[in-house]
Amino acid sequence: MVGGCARRSRPLCRLSPRSAHPGYLLLHQMPKARKPPTPPKHCIFCDLPKKMSDEHIWGKWIKDYIRADRKKHHIHLTRIPSPKSPNITELRIRAGDPLSANVHVVCIDCNSTWMSRIQQETKPILIPLFQSKTTGLGPKAQAQLALWCTMATMTGEFIDRDPLGQGVTLAERQFFRQQSEIPPNWRIWIARYRRYKWKGEWIHLTVPILGPEDVPGIQPGDSAKPNTQTTTFVIGELYVHVMSSSGHPDLTAKWNWPAFSRLTRLLIQIWPPKESFIAWPPESLTDHDADTIPTLFSNVIDAASRSLLGRRIF
Ligand SMILES: [Zn+2]
Repeated sequence: MVGGCARRSRPLCRLSPRSAHPGYLLLHQMPKARKPPTPPKHCIFCDLPKKMSDEHIWGKWIKDYIRADRKKHHIHLTRIPSPKSPNITELRIRAGDPLSANVHVVCIDCNSTWMSRIQQETKPILIPLFQSKTTGLGPKAQAQLALWCTMATMTGEFIDRDPLGQGVTLAERQFFRQQSEIPPNWRIWIARYRRYKWKGEWIHLTVPILGPEDVPGIQPGDSAKPNTQTTTFVIGELYVHVMSSSGHPDLTAKWNWPAFSRLTRLLIQIWPPKESFIAWPPESLTDHDADTIPTLFSNVIDAASRSLLGRRIF
C-alpha cells in the first residue's frame, strides 16, 4: 500500500445506521435535561398559587355596550422610581382595543366568585354612565361603582409588568377581597367626558412616598417600592380618576383640586361618599381638562420632592 489511508476491511456494521453512530446514540439516549419548574403564579388578591384566569380589567361584558374595534390604544406610565432620580414617563401604544385589555394575575376562584359578583352588580349602574343616558346615583349606587373602580384599578396596575409600576400593596388588595371594602386612603372621582382629540385611555402614576427615616439609607439608583398611585381611565363617556396612598395617607386625604377651577365642579367624588345624589349626565370635561387631571398630582409630587436647589429629595 502506498500512501493514503488504509481502507477498513471490516464489513460495515449491520446495525441500522442510526444506532450505529456513536454520536447519535449519545445525543438521543441521554435523558432530556428537564427545565426547572416555573414557580406557580400567586393570585394578586388571595396570594395563593392557583390556576390563573384571563381577567378582563373592565369586564368582558362591556363590549356589548361600547364599540371595541380599535386597532391600537395608548397607555401612559409615569414612575418616580427612587429618591434623587428622574421620573420615568413612557407612552406605550398597545395593539387592540383598550376594552380588550386583560391580565393573567387573578386566580379562577377569585375571578369567578367575588370579582364576578362586583361586575354583575355594577353593570346596570355603569351602562347609562358609559352612554351618557339620564340616570341618578344615590349612596348605594355610588358605593357599588366605587368598588368596581377599585377592582379595575388594582388589576389594571398589572398591565405594566414592572413591579415599580404597582403602587397598591398586597395588603390593600387582600383587605379589599376579605372585607369587600375599599381600603383607607383611597379617593375616587368620576366625570363625563366626550372625547374630541385627547388620546388618553389609561394613565398611571406610581411613586414611593418615603418618611424622613427611609431617605438616608437610599442611594441614587436604588429603587424604592411605590406605595402611592393615581390611575385615570376612560370607558365610553365615563372618566374615572383614582388616587391611593398607603405610604402618606395625608397626601390623598387632604388633596384638593385647584380652588374655583372647572375641575372642582366637574369631577364628582364618589369615594369617600360626599353627595347624597348625583344627577347624570353632567357637563362634559374638555380635552384639556381630561389631560390636566392626571398630571396635576404628579406635578405637585415632583415639586414637593425637590429641594430648593432643584435636586430630588424623595
Ligand atoms: Zn385568588
